[in-house]
Order: sequence, then structure tokens, then C-alpha cells
Amino acid sequence: MTGENDLFVQKALAGQPIDHCLVIDAHGHLGENPTFPIIDTDPASVVASMDRIGIDALWVSALPAIYGGYAERGNAIVETAIHRYPQRLFGYTVVDIGYPDRVIPTLEHGQRAGFTGIKIYSPIGNVPAPTYASPNYEPLYNFADVHHLPILAHTWGSELDDLEPWIKRYPNVNILLAHTGSAQLEKYIRFGREYPNVFLELCYSLSPRGFVELLVREGLADKVVWGSDTVFMSATQQIGRVLFAKISPEDKEKILGLNAKRALYTETT
Ligand SMILES: [Zn+2]
Repeated sequence: MTGENDLFVQKALAGQPIDHCLVIDAHGHLGENPTFPIIDTDPASVVASMDRIGIDALWVSALPAIYGGYAERGNAIVETAIHRYPQRLFGYTVVDIGYPDRVIPTLEHGQRAGFTGIKIYSPIGNVPAPTYASPNYEPLYNFADVHHLPILAHTWGSELDDLEPWIKRYPNVNILLAHTGSAQLEKYIRFGREYPNVFLELCYSLSPRGFVELLVREGLADKVVWGSDTVFMSATQQIGRVLFAKISPEDKEKILGLNAKRALYTETT
């Protein structure tokens, strides 16, 4: 299936950008990381890397917004970047969910500033956060519903149980489950099949052999969305997982861009 006739493979091997189809990176970050240094967090550098790879659009949230409850400071980094690159960078607003009074004002600010999605996160490593079961999330889902905003949710398997009631309650809110394949894969597969508003986002530092192939075999070619976790991880390594997967070029086109277009963009985006 994959071979000489696959433009994705040919271009990747030749070091050329994937410029014959739409490529959307649904999961990226800007800003500094508190636990280890990141080589270059400048949006200009991120966009240069997108140009080299052939990524048309990147949806970003800020690392300082996620690590440590500095949503306002982090969102400001994204706000500057999306105004600098309005056709290339799209912003996820992050809220300090532990401070219920801040949720709506932060989302309203994001709305005015041109953010087009919301990123939520559960406890990551040593970084504590309320779980997705917290009632603090209710106004956030209502806001997403009213304003047609997709939600990218950091997940590592176990959080899916807390997300499920929200997924059912807000069928018009598209929810992207980040890091599919990190743990409890069978649950991701079930969610992807069962819920039209769920999409499976791919970024994950490991690259288990046959993983993307397996998702396609499970009937999820229309529900898988590519993301890199850039600047945290390298987009070149992450896109290689799809470019070299033994699936049809048509399915690669869906996973690299067409599915994200459906999941993320509304008429107003
Ligand atoms: Zn991430």
C-alpha cells in the first residue's frame, strides 16, 4: 500500500514539504516550559518549521498557561502570535479551572482576541489540576457550545471516564482526545466509534510500530487527527508517524488535515 507511488513517502524521504494537500497540526504550544529548556519558542521559528514541513496551520496553547495556573500570562503569548500569523496560527484559550470566577472572563477575553478553541488539561506529572469531573467545567462547556469552540483535552487514558458525561451532554462540542495511544487504547477506540463529536489526536513521543495502521483498521480513518505537541516535541518526528504509516494516501490526507478541518473549524473560524 505504501511505496513508490505514495507522494507522502517520496516527499518525506526527499526532505520536501508536504505541499500537495492540507496539513493541520491540531496540538501545539508556545512559550517557556518550567521543567526543561525548549530550544526556540519564538513563533517565527515555529512558522519556519511549519514551512519546511508543509504544515498549513497550527493550533496552539501556551505552556505557561498549563503549567502553574498562569492562564492570563500564557494566553497573552498566544494572542500576540495569532495576531502576527493570522493565517497560520490558531489559538486555544486556557483557563485557570481551579478559580471558577476566572473561567468566563478568560474565555470572553479569548473570544474578543480571536481565539478559536479551548485547551483543557488534567493533572500532568507533578502539576496538579482539578479533574475533568469538576463542576467548574460546566460554564466552560456551555461557553464552547454557544460559541462553537472545539476543545482539545489532554488525556492519558484514565481521564476519559471523567470526560464521557460531558461528551454525551454536549454533542455539538467537538472534543479532541490528545495523546491517543498513551494508555488504555481500547477506550479511545470505543469513544472514537461511539461519539460523533470525539476525535482522536495523535501526538505522543513514542511511535509504536503499526499504531496508526491499527486505528485505520479499527474504522477510525475519519476520526483521527494529527498533532505534534510542538514546541514540546519535534513536528518532523511526529508527522513521520503518519507519512510512513502503511495506510492509503487518501487516509493520510484525512488524518493530516481533512479530519482536523471538520473537527476544528467552524464557518466563523
Ligand atoms: Zn501538549
